[in-house]
Amino acid sequence: MDGKTGGRIMEQQEQPGQPGQPGRPGLQGQGEWRRSAWCGELRASDAGREVVLNGWVAHRRDHGGLIFIDLRDRSGLVQVVFNPQTDPEAFRTAETLRLEYVVSVAGQVRHRSPGMENPKLPTGEIEVAGHTLTVLSTSKTPPFVLDRAPSVDENLRLRYRYLDLRRPEMQRNLVLRHRLAQKTREFLNARGFLEIETPMLTRSTPEGARDFLVPSRLSPGTFYALPQSPQLFKQLLMVSGFERYYQIARCFRDEDLRADRQPEFTQIDIEMSFVEREDVMQLGEELIATLLGEVNVRVELPLRRITYGEAMLRYGSDKPDLRFGLEIQDVSQLFATSGFQVFARAVASGGVVRALVLPGGSDLSRRELDQLVELAPRWGARGLVWMLAEAEELRSPIAKYLGAGEEAALRKQLSVQPGDLICLMAGPEKETAIAMGRLRLFLAEKKNLIPPGRWELVWVVDFPLLEWNEEERRLEAVHHPFTSPRQEDVDLLATEPLRVRANAYDLVLNGVELGGGSIRNHRREVQERVFEALGISPEEARAKFGFLLEALEYGAPPHGGIAFGFDRLVMLLAGEETIRDVIAFPKTQSGADPLTGAPAAVSAAQLGELHIIPEVPVA
Ligand code: ASP
Repeated sequence: MDGKTGGRIMEQQEQPGQPGQPGRPGLQGQGEWRRSAWCGELRASDAGREVVLNGWVAHRRDHGGLIFIDLRDRSGLVQVVFNPQTDPEAFRTAETLRLEYVVSVAGQVRHRSPGMENPKLPTGEIEVAGHTLTVLSTSKTPPFVLDRAPSVDENLRLRYRYLDLRRPEMQRNLVLRHRLAQKTREFLNARGFLEIETPMLTRSTPEGARDFLVPSRLSPGTFYALPQSPQLFKQLLMVSGFERYYQIARCFRDEDLRADRQPEFTQIDIEMSFVEREDVMQLGEELIATLLGEVNVRVELPLRRITYGEAMLRYGSDKPDLRFGLEIQDVSQLFATSGFQVFARAVASGGVVRALVLPGGSDLSRRELDQLVELAPRWGARGLVWMLAEAEELRSPIAKYLGAGEEAALRKQLSVQPGDLICLMAGPEKETAIAMGRLRLFLAEKKNLIPPGRWELVWVVDFPLLEWNEEERRLEAVHHPFTSPRQEDVDLLATEPLRVRANAYDLVLNGVELGGGSIRNHRREVQERVFEALGISPEEARAKFGFLLEALEYGAPPHGGIAFGFDRLVMLLAGEETIRDVIAFPKTQSGADPLTGAPAAVSAAQLGELHIIPEVPVA
C-alpha cells in the first residue's frame, strides 16, 4: 500500500500504544499484546525500535533453522524472524503458526542482513526480530490461497468475501473508495452543499428500469419501491429552498445483470437551484478533476464537449472513447448513385453509408477480414464491406461494381493511403452509426490503439429529449421524464417530438459513462407537456407524480443537477476491470450474494404477515 492510498494509519486513528517506548514490553498481562506500530509503515529509520505488531500470518517459511513470517495488517506486510537460540519460547509458538492465524508479536526492528533486502516491499530493508509471540486467534486452512485469489472462481471469493477482502489489492480499493467519498464531501461542503438523506422506502421513480418492491405489512396489498435514484426528492428539496444538495446515495434497479451492473449501486447525487446547464457542468467537472487528482491524474479544464449528433456520427456512440482516433465518416452522398445497389438503395430509402479507415490495416489476413464480416450482424449492421487500398486501386469484393470516379472520390474524401483498410456499412442511420461504433472499438482493441495511462474526459451535450422505443412502439425519455427541453425547442414537443433537444449532459471517461444530469422542468405546464409527449395521460401523471406537479405550483426555482456513478468512478481510478472489485459485498452477475445466501426464501409466516399469501392462523 503506498503512502497515497494507505496514508499513515497511525495519524488517522487514536494512537494504539506508545510507539518507540524503550524496554521490551512483555505480552503476558492483559492488553499487553496491543499494537504499537503498523507492519507496513516500518522503515530503515526505525531500526533499533521495540515494537508490538498485530496482524495476520500471510506467509511462513522455515529456513536455516529460523522461522520467517510475513505479518500483514491494513498497512501492509513486514517480515518477522524467530530465532530458537535467542527466544526459544517464541520460536516454539512460531512453529504452531499457520496461514491467517492472528498474532501479536513484540520484537525489535533491525536492518536485514546485506543481500537479503526486498526492494519490492516498502518494508523490505528491515525485519522484526520477534522475541514474544501470542496467538490471538487460529484459522482453518483458507479455501483459497489469498495471493492467488485473482485466478480463483469469483463465486468462491464472494462466498468467503471476508478473506478475499484481506488481500492488499482489495484493501487498497476500499481505502481508495473511502478517500474518494471523503474528498467528494469535502469538495461539496466547501461549496455550500448540504448532505441530506432521502427515503429508501418510497414510491417508484421511473429512471427506465424495473423497481425493487417491498410489500407493506400495515397497508395490505400496497408496496414501497426502493429508489432507482433520489431524483424526485432532490427536486423537492430545491422547491424547499435548500439550494444545494448532495448525497452519496444508494440506488436500486432491477435490471437484467448482463453488463457489469449491480442491483444496488452508489451515486454521487447532486442538485442545485437557480442554475443553468453551464453551472452544473462546471461544478461537475471540477469535482471529477479533484477526484482524479487523488490518483495523480491531472486534467485540464474546461473539458471538451461534443454534441450527441456529432458523437454518434464520428464515434458511433453516445459515450465516445476519445483515447484514439479512427473516426467514422459519412460517405452517403458518394454512394447515392453508386453501381453497388446495396449502398445506393440504403441512401435512397433515407439511410446512410458510413466508412472507417484503419491506417495500415491491409495487414489483416483474409480470415480476419471474414471475421469482421461475420461480426457485423452481431453489432447490429446489415453487413460490412471491406476495401484494401493498394497503390493504384481498391481491392474489395465489391470493386467490380464501382466506377473509377467513385473509387477516386472515396480515396480523396477519406484521405486513403496505400496499405489502409476501409470498412463500410450501410443502413438506417442510428443502427449503422452504432454498428460502426462497435467496429471502431473492436479494431482499436485488436490493433492496440488505446494508449495505456490515457484519461480522456468529454461532455456529451444536446441529447434528444425523447427517443422511439421500437419494441414498445412509443416515445420514451432519453434521460428521464423530468429533464427539460431546450427553451427554443419546447414548441416542437407537440409537432416533432423527436427533434426536441434536451437540457441534458453526460460526462464520459475513456468511453465509459461517468454520470449525467439535466436542467429540470420547474414549471408545471412544461412538465405536463413533456408527459403528454411521452404518452402519459393527465390522469396517470397525476396518479404517479401528482406530488411533484403540485410542488411545482408552489414556487419552484429553476434547478438542475447531475449524478455520477460512484462504483464505476472508483473502479476506473483503481484500475480495476469490474465494479465488484470496488464494492465490499457485491452481488454476482445473477444478483446473488454467495456469502449470505441472499436472495433467500422466507417463512410462510412472514409471507402471511405481508399479505402475500393468506395468513396462517396461529394455533
Ligand atoms: N437521476 C439521474 C440518474 O440517476 C441523474 C440526474 O438527472 O441527476 O441517472
